[in-house]
This record gives sequence, structure tokens and C-alpha cells, in this order.
Amino acid sequence: MNYEEFFRNKIRNLHEEGRYRIFADLERQSGNFPVATVHRDGETRDIVVWCSNDYLGMGQNRVVLDAIHEAIDKCGAGAGGTRNISGTNHYHVLLEKELAELHGKESALLFTSGFVSNLAALHTLGSLLPDCVIFSDELNHASMIDGIRSSRTEKKIFKHNDPHDLDRQLSQYPKNQAKLVAFESVYSMDGDIAPIAELCDVADAHNAMTYLDEVHAVGLYGANGGGVSQRDGVAHRLTVIEGTLAKAFGVMGGYVAASSSVVDFIRSYSSAFIFTTALSPALAAGALASVRHLRNSEVERARHQERAATLKRRLMAAGLPVMQSPSHIVPVLVGDPTLCRNVTDLLMDRYDIYVQPINYPTVPRGTERLRLTPSPLHTDEQIDALTSALGEIWHDLGLKQAA
Ligand SMILES: *Cc1c(COP(=O)(O)O)cnc(C)c1O
Repeated sequence: MNYEEFFRNKIRNLHEEGRYRIFADLERQSGNFPVATVHRDGETRDIVVWCSNDYLGMGQNRVVLDAIHEAIDKCGAGAGGTRNISGTNHYHVLLEKELAELHGKESALLFTSGFVSNLAALHTLGSLLPDCVIFSDELNHASMIDGIRSSRTEKKIFKHNDPHDLDRQLSQYPKNQAKLVAFESVYSMDGDIAPIAELCDVADAHNAMTYLDEVHAVGLYGANGGGVSQRDGVAHRLTVIEGTLAKAFGVMGGYVAASSSVVDFIRSYSSAFIFTTALSPALAAGALASVRHLRNSEVERARHQERAATLKRRLMAAGLPVMQSPSHIVPVLVGDPTLCRNVTDLLMDRYDIYVQPINYPTVPRGTERLRLTPSPLHTDEQIDALTSALGEIWHDLGLKQAA
């Protein structure tokens, strides 16, 4: 076997399909969100970022930065061990308590990322619950799919956000068999929102547990940033709520919140939790400050929704094909991987605007798109500049306008 040739061929395939990934080499400018410096061909220039998942700019919020500085000075850089062997810092304990309260659950457990939290929790539940069947929404995130797959338990895919299809599939199993329904609240590529109460009704009728990924909603929805389940008053109905500290909370890490027995079970049996070094105390301190701030402040959430509504309105007025979404995520359809990359290259080269193209397999082929994420810190001028740049590019490339 010629190993090098194998790897090169696989990469060439990606180039040919127009979906080879190129990372923008950025330096974020603390205090100047959403502006960043891009490094390209040995030069640098300032650009406006329109695709960050630091949805509220909390990654540069003074409250968060002060907490991180203070924790570094107090505790140093790393955690120094796994949670079990000298790595549990007091900040981890405080943060887990805060997250449990945020979701109205008895307990919470931290992981090094949201990806790891899904992988670890679903793997552990799926592999250790006897004869468990996991029912997974067809658009679930890769981290949930990997967790379910690695558990090697039986898996059923139900139609996206469809309680009737879920009901039909659950009906095929005895009521006393272990079952888990896994889904998300805000789906990050279309920006649509799950009917959480209806899915819980169906799960309850079949005595199934529920597992909700609120990664794109924590900090952003609900009176205290507890996500869509808090906004809809249904957090108590979910067995497990999973979230990230890296998106709206602006730092890093992931978690699950649930009853103390479920959390203790995952804590005690998950190898992806047990055998890895704990999150650095400074990150835990920063996340704690961010969660606390957003539990008590509505300003960022209100402004976020207003900015998203304004951006959608301006883009639609310019005839751009904005995909309908009830959330803060603003997808704009291009429908071809190469054209999608052309659009984003032109935005960067001509207009100093950074948007990453979203291509297969992140979205289905033929639905390649721009995924815009307005924040409370994007100004009217930045919205206008983006809208007119896209209008000119759509015209120059002869792209389809809104129907
Ligand atoms: C980003 C994402 C994750 C992973 O969270 P990280 O903290 O970035 O690892 C999990 N679920 C969904 C739906 C996501 O979009």
C-alpha cells in the first residue's frame, strides 16, 4: 500500500468537489468584536466577521476577561490532573452548581467541549442501559451521531422535528424496553427550532428518556439564558439537557445537566470524562462569570434578536434568498459548492467581510449556503455594508434572487 498516495488522493477528491476546507488565519481583537485581523499571503488587514458562534461577543466581555485574568493569577494555567486525580478545582464545582441551577436540574457535569459532552453522555447511556434503543433526529449534530454510533446500541432515525414519525417508531418497541430520544432545540444550519413539548409528550407516552442538545440556545433564549426549554417552560420534562460554554457563553467547555443519579452515573462510568485532564480553572472561571452575567442580564439577548431581525429584513429587501428561520441564525441560499466559495472569496477580497461557506456534508448537496450570525455588536453600518456587498456579488455572479 502506498499510504502517501492514498492520503493525497482523498484530499484531491475534496478539491475536485469544491469542498476542500481552507481556514481563515485570524487574530481576534479583544474589545473590537466583530472586527478581526486576517493574515493572508504575508500581509494583514482588518475584516468584519459575520460567521462567529461567539453569538453575543461574550468572549471579549470585560466581566469574563476579568474573571479569567483573576483565575490565572490565583490558580495558574492548567488544572493539573483529571477530575479524579487532583484536577478538580473549586471553579469547576461552582460552575457545575451554576449550570444545574440554570436548567433547574439537580446536578451538572463539565466536559472539555460540547462535542465531548455529547460523545461521552450518549455513549455511556447507550452502551450501559440494557437493550437501549436510541431515537435520533435525522439532522442531529455529528457529536451526537458519533456518541450513539460508538455505543453500538440499536439506533432509529426519525424525521426532522416530526413527533408523528417519532411516535410511529417508538410504538414498535415494548413500553418497558429502555429508550432514549435525542434531538436539538435550535438547529444550527437552518436555524429552525424543535417542538420540544410535543416531542416530550410522545416520549412520555412511550416511557422514553429525552436528551436535548441546547448548544445553539443556551445564553440566548429563556428569561435567564436557560435555552429554548426554559423559554417554553419545559426544562423539567427533559431527562438530560446538554450545552456548550463555547458559543453564546464565549469561552470553552461543555456540560450535561440532569438528575443527580443520571449525572453521577455518567461521572462514574464515562471514560471520556474520567480519563482526560479537567478544563483549565481559568476557562471554568470565565465560563462561570459569563453564565452568571447572562442569567441576570437581558440586554444582550434583546439586542441579539433585534439585530437578527434587522439583518433578515435588510437582506430580504435587497432581494437576497434568505432562508426562513425563527431564530438568530440567518442562512442565505447559494445552492452550489463552488459558487458558494466564490461568494465568500469575493466578500473577503473586495469587501473585507469574512463569511465561511457552508458546504456538504455540513448541509445537503444543493443547499450550500452562507450562514450569517449577527451579534449585538454588529452595527447598522456593518449590516448595510454586508447587504450591499452581497447585492453586488449576486448581480456579478448572476445568482438566483429570492423567489
Ligand atoms: C458546536 C456544536 C456542538 C459542540 O460544541 P463544542 O463546545 O463546540 O464542542 C454540539 N452540538 C451542536 C449542535 C453544535 O453545533
